[in-house]
Amino acid sequence: MAIKVIDEKCIGCSKCQKSCPFDAITIENKIAVIGDACTNCGTCIDVCPTDAILQEGTEKIVRDLSMYKGVWVFAEQREGKIMPVVFELLGEGKKLANEIGTELCAILCGSNVGGLTDELFAYGADKVYLADAPELEKYTTDGYSKVINEAIGIYKPEIVLYGATHIGRDLAPCLAVKVNTGLTADCTKLEIDPDDKKIRQTRPAFGGNLMATIVCPGSRPQMSTVRPGVMDKAAYDPSKKGEVVKLDAVFEEGDIRTKVLEIVKTTADIISISDADFIVAGGMGLGKPEGLELLKQLADKLGGTVAASRACVDAGWADHNIQVGQTGTTVKPQIYFACGISGAIQHIAGMQDSDLIIAINKNENAPIFEVADYGIVGDLYKVIPAIIDELDKLGK
Ligand code: FAD
Ligand code: SF4
Ligand code: SF4
Repeated sequence: MAIKVIDEKCIGCSKCQKSCPFDAITIENKIAVIGDACTNCGTCIDVCPTDAILQEGTEKIVRDLSMYKGVWVFAEQREGKIMPVVFELLGEGKKLANEIGTELCAILCGSNVGGLTDELFAYGADKVYLADAPELEKYTTDGYSKVINEAIGIYKPEIVLYGATHIGRDLAPCLAVKVNTGLTADCTKLEIDPDDKKIRQTRPAFGGNLMATIVCPGSRPQMSTVRPGVMDKAAYDPSKKGEVVKLDAVFEEGDIRTKVLEIVKTTADIISISDADFIVAGGMGLGKPEGLELLKQLADKLGGTVAASRACVDAGWADHNIQVGQTGTTVKPQIYFACGISGAIQHIAGMQDSDLIIAINKNENAPIFEVADYGIVGDLYKVIPAIIDELDKLGK
């Protein structure tokens, strides 16, 4: 591919000439001319104020953005169960759809999953696009991206939201490339710009030290992955009904290049921390990996589950699936116990929206106490057995 100048757009400003590290550009008759020394580095493309320079073959396709309508939510299901993040996306999607005056739709893929559409309507979807085929029984990037890409091409949604789950994080970038649009990953906030009705997608950047708000001005759909546990769930109304639109899910030999032989579940998959109402999380204050056993005793009493800070995961004490925080999972339980966790900003980013936070730390100045509703200054190896004893007395 060669670099080329669109003469009609060039205003002869010479910015490209100054930026070229290879002196490959001359200005002739007030128009930039690319010479043989060009190495295709692309520097001049970025500096041109009129978009007059492009790489041949990548000419922008001018799209009629007004053709794109509707907010879609990728209704991720596993083994016939809709993932909790989908209900959060439907809640958020409804707000966005109301603001731009459009419908809320879900796109559901799987095998024999037609029975799940009622649940999606009850959580607010007006329409469900359904791709039901034996080839979609287990998630594969090729299978899901083929049918969703085709559906986007036909029905042209304005916005598509995915949960930032393992599957969502795999599928959404692949579709962004196929559909030739942008994607903002790991969003924590979505809102509609009141002036131009485009979606403003906010996500942490630079290690969580600043929040970046990203827009997708020139291509459609606008696509985001959203962290589980960040948005509020949609209201449930079992009387609500909607329309099912069946998609063609026809595959030819070679369309799906991978074969899922076996799905091996970790314990953390069985009790997901993003679904738990009670979480007992441990940090380096445990001193040793065996300390997680004590946390498990408390978690079992409460019918909850154990989680960990990233430091514990990095130390090999815990699996990444139970890591809470910016580079782990965002959680929102009824009660979050932070035991021997200092309260680094990256950890707090993943648990600060819990209904009630109880921190146990030896250091009374630990930052975790700034977000805790109740703080216990003490050795967790004394405090946690005392709590377990009290629960025993209550017959728990
Ligand atoms: P420490 O900071 O070592 O804290 C241990 C705490 O235990 C101390 O406050 C100490 O007073 C207390 N303590 C010690 N002994 C006891 C005892 N017997 N009883 C009670 N208290 C005791 N971290 C995350 O957790 N999640 C993330 O997703 C994450 N993402 C990150 C992303 C980036 C880009 C970066 C740079 C860092 C990230 N981190 C994340 C790491 C984060 O900055 C901290 O290093 C980490 O959270 C610290 O873990 P900790 O609180 O377990 O350990
Ligand atoms: Fe022409 Fe763009 Fe180069 Fe300016 S920067 S001379 S407008 S090609
Ligand atoms: Fe110069 Fe790079 Fe532009 Fe080629 S692509 S003209 S080398 S700046």
